[in-house]
Amino acid sequence: MDEDIIVLDTYDKAKKWLGEHVHRNFFPLNPEFNTLSRLVDRHPSKNEWVNQVPTSFKISRSPGNGALVMYVRFEGLSNYRIVSWVACAKGKLASHQQSDNNNNNKLNSAMRYAIRIQVSNYKKAHPTQVCALCGTGYRIEVDHYLKHFVDIKEDYIKIKLERGDPPPIVFKWHPKKGNFMFRDGTKADGYYDKKWKVAWQKYHNTHATYRYLCSTCNKKTNKSVPDSVIPSLPSVTLTPLVPLPPLLLK
Ligand SMILES: [Zn+2]
Repeated sequence: MDEDIIVLDTYDKAKKWLGEHVHRNFFPLNPEFNTLSRLVDRHPSKNEWVNQVPTSFKISRSPGNGALVMYVRFEGLSNYRIVSWVACAKGKLASHQQSDNNNNNKLNSAMRYAIRIQVSNYKKAHPTQVCALCGTGYRIEVDHYLKHFVDIKEDYIKIKLERGDPPPIVFKWHPKKGNFMFRDGTKADGYYDKKWKVAWQKYHNTHATYRYLCSTCNKKTNKSVPDSVIPSLPSVTLTPLVPLPPLLLK
């Protein structure tokens, strides 16, 4: 029944509709199935998927942050996969998932991921977590201070470029954590990627200092990239931006 199909072509529409249908499974006999199929059709990478025909849907919420998650089972696959309903509704990928040319975001993601242990070591060494600006102990994040992460990162890239040591351009995607990682590289290239990463970790370790901020104050500090996206902070396994795992791609 075509008139039952609701077109979810904006973030707000999709969020509202999915919120009203959460914690349910939908099969081809359910009228909602067509609405969800139409939504998945809007995914910007759908043409590249090996398995494209949905057989059932499950809408859930991430236990971590309450974000809506759309699971889809495709013909030919036995397990449900997470499909980004945000990408479907908007008809485009989040900036960090855009085409392979968008290497600055991948590099940024990998560079943040590479220093996550240093950030957790700071937390371990400073068990009293209180916001340096407002004094709350609620929703505390680690902030790079005085120097912002982005400045340490750019300084390092500049130094490396001056030495003829450009950043790696190919990265691994971590589907559960939702970020990119450096590869080890190959024997033929002398494990260049790994060396670049290790040198970055050392540089960051000697240049970064931190403070605690609550998430509200952290957002207000008006940096181009908030430190709240550091992948070491509480797991974001099921955010709606997690794309299809690479297995589904040709
Ligand atoms: Zn605060």
